[in-house]
Amino acid sequence: MAADTTEYDFDLFTIGAGSGGVRASRVAAAHGARVAVAEEFRVGGTCVIRGCVPKKMLVYGAHFAEDLEDCAKFGWEIGEKSFDWIKLRDNVLNDVDRLENAYTETLENHDVTIFRERAEITGGHEITLASGKVVTARYILIATGAHPRMPTCEGAEHAISSNEAFHLDALPKRILIAGGGYIANEFAGIFNEFGSKVTIVNRSDVLLRGYDESVRDRLLQISTMKGIEFRFNTTFEYIRECPDGGYFVKLSDRDEEHADVVMFATGRVPNVKGLGLDKAGVELGERGEIVVDRFSKTNIDHIYAVGDVTDRVQLTPVAIREGQAFADTVFGKGDPVAVDHGCIPSAVFSHPPIASVGMTEGQARNKLGTVKVYQADFRPMKNVLAGRNERSLMKMICDGENGKIVGIHMIAPEAPEMMQAAAIAVKAGLTKADFDATVAIHPTMAEELVLMR
Ligand code: NDP
Repeated sequence: MAADTTEYDFDLFTIGAGSGGVRASRVAAAHGARVAVAEEFRVGGTCVIRGCVPKKMLVYGAHFAEDLEDCAKFGWEIGEKSFDWIKLRDNVLNDVDRLENAYTETLENHDVTIFRERAEITGGHEITLASGKVVTARYILIATGAHPRMPTCEGAEHAISSNEAFHLDALPKRILIAGGGYIANEFAGIFNEFGSKVTIVNRSDVLLRGYDESVRDRLLQISTMKGIEFRFNTTFEYIRECPDGGYFVKLSDRDEEHADVVMFATGRVPNVKGLGLDKAGVELGERGEIVVDRFSKTNIDHIYAVGDVTDRVQLTPVAIREGQAFADTVFGKGDPVAVDHGCIPSAVFSHPPIASVGMTEGQARNKLGTVKVYQADFRPMKNVLAGRNERSLMKMICDGENGKIVGIHMIAPEAPEMMQAAAIAVKAGLTKADFDATVAIHPTMAEELVLMR
């Protein structure tokens, strides 16, 4: 686009330098726009600073616990082993610093002006920064993400969220994690492998709502076997400080107990407060999310929003796609681009991980009527030799009419790695026969995908 050098200070002002905001800003700048971005915390956003990336590093760290246990069966003898949480924590945090610098450099290399402060919309095209500086922009993009939902109960302020979990000064001996979703199951696996006594406390008896029931059940079974405790259909009554350290916790259906750390992982709420959205007349939805059309445009013509703040699908790669599509649509030369939110693969980095694409068996039965389900339930070769009684499960859901694969669900070591490739085939509309026509790579776990009966 031709930069508008007369009317506004910038062509685009992005609020929030997370995954969606950074991508949108960088691409808009590459299209020739004069871009500024405001970030009140750290460039990189939730995913890079206190989410997916440091979490995955902790998952890697946690895996060593079982590998070191299993290695004896593979002939390795190692001396006494110990785990140093502070060492891992600091190495992870140092890498987060490195990544923040890399993201900052990317923006700077594209001549994006970075304001390291809070920004608020104070007029049609006017943005006021925390320092008092006022700038104007032809377009405004809100990419402020979401923050952890902290339930209210007596003493809720003593609980941490995943944000603080990366900074703990000591590994908790006992941790209670509220919630049954992504974060609860991922951190339960991490802390359990590090030797903490972990209890998941959930308001219902459904873990990972939305995932296929068979893989959810398998995770529950394996997690229980590994020593994670589950308290279902219960809520927190209070969290009280214990004079000797830690907290006394009372759940609705049992006696008071003690925990060193209580962590809430009960969903994330769009960051819309203090942005001046009401003054700007931007419409919000029932969950407090910014309502946008398929091009991420709000009800106000020059204000757009991408990522978790729109609460469409709260996943980093989706925010990145939305940011890219926005920049291409508004500042590119081609046709408008809308993100396809269908058939998005996802993974839970639990121990073992879950990965999924498309419809669950239940959803497919409701929607399609006739479905065919293929399944592989097996003990991975490595687990057999290690003497680890942990089975993997893969499920393929096909349309009974034409054999088209409408969903694949797995719980297995490296399931997310396998799923990324399988998801291409599902997205492309391939059939079970297409999978069967592909020769297996032997011996792998992924070969089950083309051998399922
Ligand atoms: P999730 O939505 O995955 O899970 C929230 C859990 O908290 C559910 O079990 C839910 O129960 C429960 N819950 C919701 N509200 C309350 C409440 N008021 N009181 C008690 N329990 C409640 O959220 P997470 O916090 O685990 O993760 C947030 C988001 O971050 C995820 O939705 C995901 O999009 C993203 N994320 C993705 C990851 C990945 O891709 N691997 C990893 C981590 C996060 P119920 O089922 O009954 O609603």
